[in-house]
Amino acid sequence: MIDLESDTLTCDVLIVGGGPAGLATAHTLAPHAKTIVIHQDREIGKPVRTSGGTWVADMQALGVPPHLYQQIDELMFRSDNREVIQPLAQRKCAVLDITGTYQWLADLARGAGAEVYTDTKFMQTEETDDGFVSTIRSRSITASRIKSRFIVDASGTPHAVLSNLGLVEKPDRVGVGIEHEFEIKSAPKNRAVLFVGQAVKSGYGWIFPAPNNHIRIGVGIIQPDSDLSPRDIYNSVVTPEFLESYGLELGPLVQVNAGIIPSVPYDPKLVFGNVIRVGDTANFATPTVGEGIRIAIKFGRILGERLGEAIAQGCRAPLVRYELECRKDLKRNYSFGFTANERIATYDAADWDRSLDRLSRLDEAEVVSLVKSEFTARMMLKAAWKQVRHKVFD
Ligand SMILES: Cc1cc2nc3c(=O)[nH]c(=O)nc-3n(C[C@H](O)[C@H](O)[C@H](O)COP(=O)(O)OP(=O)(O)OC[C@H]3O[C@@H](n4cnc5c(N)ncnc54)[C@H](O)[C@@H]3O)c2cc1C
Repeated sequence: MIDLESDTLTCDVLIVGGGPAGLATAHTLAPHAKTIVIHQDREIGKPVRTSGGTWVADMQALGVPPHLYQQIDELMFRSDNREVIQPLAQRKCAVLDITGTYQWLADLARGAGAEVYTDTKFMQTEETDDGFVSTIRSRSITASRIKSRFIVDASGTPHAVLSNLGLVEKPDRVGVGIEHEFEIKSAPKNRAVLFVGQAVKSGYGWIFPAPNNHIRIGVGIIQPDSDLSPRDIYNSVVTPEFLESYGLELGPLVQVNAGIIPSVPYDPKLVFGNVIRVGDTANFATPTVGEGIRIAIKFGRILGERLGEAIAQGCRAPLVRYELECRKDLKRNYSFGFTANERIATYDAADWDRSLDRLSRLDEAEVVSLVKSEFTARMMLKAAWKQVRHKVFD
């Protein structure tokens, strides 16, 4: 029921942010409720603010078409004096074509009936008797206000809606990353690298072969744990010797990607009356490596379904279920993961060397669980026993 006569659009749910979380929410919500997504960038999936590392099994489960990711068959970890190569026989990694994947998510959302407006920024909102009136600034539509009963804050790190309403503070600890994406002249295209140590203190670097014969080389650090700039670190780390040591010959630079992600403890509160958060705004990315795309899509879709049910049934119980489903999957794992996050942010070169020694004693399932922040009791006991056995017997 868009009121074209005035400058106000009306919908059941306004979703702020057209990243994976907002678009996935819109996809499952739109068949049940009038849904508008607003996205501040001119295009969906551009500029790229992430490096797109993920897992083949998760992409298959989410139905992401295989041409949108590059399969990775081995993970290399490197510290100043150690190198561990973990072949991935059962649990393949993947690196996404970010722009292509987010545009695919937008197509799904539009196909389900959502209206997706790019170049449209959420500015502020006011609560009224029957919902919210939000002020927007748009270069693609003439409207300047959107009336909605619900708002989903999927704006990522800015927490645009929640911070405007004073419901949640913006995160005071963040991961900041910069990445250069090149065409490949010559490189192992099935190997992803995570590098740590002195040069990338309070963070890590990565080399991710991506679809379309591209490769992404980046570094990320946690601020304020580190006061260095990722750009300076990148420039000092990525030298001709560095590239040669990984067997990389680069073609032209395609683009520079940069982004910010919250790095604070997981907070299970997701529903604030009729404002609900999802994705990075809800701190869904893993605390170990800051991997958040698959989780944003998975729980975005769940939120869309639950919010659709809540609107259809006129009750809040499905929203409580959304909060519980997220808590069940994430809370325990993320509290272990965040402890690890805070600890490794203080590591020096020798700590990282020891850490890679420990990593070399783990098997594929354990390494992947660690990277994914999935800490089952059995896995943790088994991994701990391996370290004890090594100390006592080796
Ligand atoms: C450097 C870096 C590397 C990363 N690497 C990986 C990785 O390898 N694998 C992985 O899975 N995850 C990675 N992540 C994390 C991943 O990018 C996020 O977890 C994921 O993007 C979260 O999705 P989202 O939809 O919640 O937020 P976002 O992707 O941030 O999307 C939110 C969108 O909302 C828009 N927006 C913000 N404010 C407004 C407003 N006021 N009005 C309208 N629109 C607004 C923004 O433009 C943004 O595009 C990385 C993050 C960073 C910073």
